[in-house]
Amino acid sequence: MDILRELRESGLKVTIPRLRILQLFQEGSIKHLSADDVYKLLLAEKIDVGLATIYRVLMQFAEAGILFRRHFESGHAVFELNEGQHHDHLVCTGCGKVDEFVDEGIELRQHEIATEHGFVLHEHALSLYGTCADCTAKKVPPRKP
Ligand SMILES: [Zn+2]
Ligand SMILES: [Zn+2]
Repeated sequence: MDILRELRESGLKVTIPRLRILQLFQEGSIKHLSADDVYKLLLAEKIDVGLATIYRVLMQFAEAGILFRRHFESGHAVFELNEGQHHDHLVCTGCGKVDEFVDEGIELRQHEIATEHGFVLHEHALSLYGTCADCTAKKVPPRKP
Protein backbone atom coordinates (compact mmCIF):
# COMPACT_ATOMS: atom_id res chain seq x y z
CA MET A 1 0.00 0.00 0.00
CA ASP A 2 1.27 3.43 -0.97
CA ILE A 3 0.79 5.53 2.16
CA LEU A 4 1.07 8.88 0.43
CA ARG A 5 -1.46 7.98 -2.21
CA GLU A 6 -3.77 6.48 0.36
CA LEU A 7 -3.59 9.67 2.43
CA ARG A 8 -4.21 11.96 -0.53
CA GLU A 9 -7.12 9.90 -1.77
CA SER A 10 -8.70 10.03 1.65
CA GLY A 11 -8.71 13.82 1.41
CA LEU A 12 -6.65 14.10 4.60
CA LYS A 13 -3.71 16.49 4.60
CA VAL A 14 -0.35 14.73 4.60
CA THR A 15 1.32 15.60 7.88
CA ILE A 16 4.33 14.02 9.58
CA PRO A 17 2.32 12.54 12.47
CA ARG A 18 -0.30 11.12 10.07
CA LEU A 19 2.40 9.59 7.88
CA ARG A 20 4.26 8.13 10.83
CA ILE A 21 1.09 6.71 12.40
CA LEU A 22 0.15 4.97 9.16
CA GLN A 23 3.69 3.64 8.80
CA LEU A 24 3.48 2.16 12.28
CA PHE A 25 0.54 0.05 11.16
CA GLN A 26 2.27 -0.96 7.93
CA GLU A 27 5.66 -1.94 9.22
CA GLY A 28 4.67 -2.99 12.70
CA SER A 29 5.10 -6.44 14.08
CA ILE A 30 1.98 -5.65 16.09
CA LYS A 31 -1.03 -5.35 13.81
CA HIS A 32 -3.58 -4.22 16.36
CA LEU A 33 -2.83 -0.94 18.12
CA SER A 34 -4.79 1.25 20.52
CA ALA A 35 -4.35 5.04 20.61
CA ASP A 36 -2.29 4.50 23.74
CA ASP A 37 0.01 2.00 21.96
CA VAL A 38 0.55 4.49 19.12
CA TYR A 39 1.24 7.26 21.63
CA LYS A 40 3.96 5.19 23.32
CA LEU A 41 5.54 4.09 20.04
CA LEU A 42 5.73 7.70 18.84
CA LEU A 43 7.13 8.88 22.18
CA ALA A 44 9.86 6.26 21.89
CA GLU A 45 10.81 7.95 18.61
CA LYS A 46 10.68 11.34 20.32
CA ILE A 47 7.62 12.34 18.32
CA ASP A 48 5.46 14.07 20.88
CA VAL A 49 1.86 14.02 19.70
CA GLY A 50 -0.93 14.27 22.25
CA LEU A 51 -3.14 11.27 22.90
CA ALA A 52 -6.27 13.20 21.90
CA THR A 53 -4.69 14.12 18.56
CA ILE A 54 -3.65 10.53 17.94
CA TYR A 55 -7.14 9.31 18.68
CA ARG A 56 -8.59 11.91 16.30
CA VAL A 57 -6.16 10.88 13.53
CA LEU A 58 -7.01 7.20 14.06
CA MET A 59 -10.73 7.97 13.83
CA GLN A 60 -10.13 9.98 10.64
CA PHE A 61 -8.31 6.98 9.17
CA ALA A 62 -11.15 4.74 10.23
CA GLU A 63 -13.72 7.03 8.61
CA ALA A 64 -11.62 7.11 5.44
CA GLY A 65 -11.60 3.29 5.42
CA ILE A 66 -7.83 3.05 5.81
CA LEU A 67 -8.06 1.53 9.27
CA PHE A 68 -10.63 -0.66 10.94
CA ARG A 69 -11.73 0.22 14.44
CA ARG A 70 -12.31 -2.92 16.46
CA HIS A 71 -14.60 -2.95 19.43
CA PHE A 72 -13.20 -5.46 21.85
CA GLU A 73 -14.91 -5.76 25.20
CA SER A 74 -11.65 -5.92 27.07
CA GLY A 75 -10.60 -2.29 26.96
CA HIS A 76 -9.78 0.51 24.57
CA ALA A 77 -10.65 0.67 20.91
CA VAL A 78 -8.04 -1.10 18.82
CA PHE A 79 -7.17 -0.15 15.25
CA GLU A 80 -5.70 -2.18 12.40
CA LEU A 81 -5.04 -1.68 8.70
CA ASN A 82 -7.91 -2.40 6.36
CA GLU A 83 -6.28 -5.02 4.17
CA GLY A 84 -9.55 -6.04 2.64
CA GLN A 85 -9.47 -9.53 4.08
CA HIS A 86 -11.91 -10.77 6.65
CA HIS A 87 -10.64 -12.36 9.83
CA ASP A 88 -11.78 -12.96 13.37
CA HIS A 89 -9.97 -12.29 16.62
CA LEU A 90 -8.69 -13.88 19.81
CA VAL A 91 -8.27 -11.34 22.59
CA CYS A 92 -6.24 -11.89 25.77
CA THR A 93 -8.00 -10.39 28.79
CA GLY A 94 -4.69 -10.39 30.67
CA CYS A 95 -2.38 -8.31 28.45
CA GLY A 96 -4.67 -7.22 25.62
CA LYS A 97 -2.73 -9.17 22.97
CA VAL A 98 -4.81 -9.76 19.85
CA ASP A 99 -4.43 -12.73 17.49
CA GLU A 100 -6.23 -13.40 14.24
CA PHE A 101 -7.77 -16.43 12.67
CA VAL A 102 -9.97 -17.47 9.77
CA ASP A 103 -11.92 -20.69 9.96
CA GLU A 104 -13.97 -21.76 6.98
CA GLY A 105 -16.20 -23.97 9.11
CA ILE A 106 -17.12 -21.04 11.36
CA GLU A 107 -17.67 -18.73 8.40
CA LEU A 108 -19.96 -21.24 6.72
CA ARG A 109 -21.90 -22.00 9.90
CA GLN A 110 -22.57 -18.29 10.51
CA HIS A 111 -24.07 -17.96 7.04
CA GLU A 112 -26.22 -21.02 7.66
CA ILE A 113 -27.44 -19.68 11.01
CA ALA A 114 -28.28 -16.30 9.50
CA THR A 115 -30.17 -17.99 6.67
CA GLU A 116 -32.10 -20.17 9.15
CA HIS A 117 -33.24 -16.94 10.79
CA GLY A 118 -34.20 -15.38 7.48
CA PHE A 119 -31.22 -13.03 7.54
CA VAL A 120 -28.92 -12.16 4.68
CA LEU A 121 -25.52 -11.81 6.31
CA HIS A 122 -23.57 -8.64 5.44
CA GLU A 123 -20.78 -8.89 7.93
CA HIS A 124 -19.87 -10.23 11.31
CA ALA A 125 -17.33 -9.69 14.05
CA LEU A 126 -16.31 -12.65 16.15
CA SER A 127 -14.03 -12.15 19.12
CA LEU A 128 -12.93 -14.92 21.46
CA TYR A 129 -11.79 -13.81 24.91
CA GLY A 130 -9.30 -15.80 26.90
CA THR A 131 -5.79 -15.97 28.30
CA CYS A 132 -2.82 -16.05 25.89
CA ALA A 133 0.07 -18.51 26.23
CA ASP A 134 2.35 -15.89 27.85
CA CYS A 135 -0.23 -14.92 30.46
CA THR A 136 -1.06 -18.57 31.12
CA ALA A 137 2.66 -19.21 31.77
CA LYS A 138 2.74 -16.18 34.10
CA LYS A 139 -0.42 -17.46 35.81
CA VAL A 140 -2.33 -14.25 35.11
CA PRO A 141 -5.82 -14.96 36.44
CA PRO A 142 -8.71 -15.11 33.98
CA ARG A 143 -10.76 -11.94 33.83
CA LYS A 144 -14.32 -11.43 32.66
CA PRO A 145 -14.26 -9.14 29.64
ZN1 LIG B 1 -1.86 -12.18 27.58
ZN1 LIG C 1 -7.29 -8.13 13.04
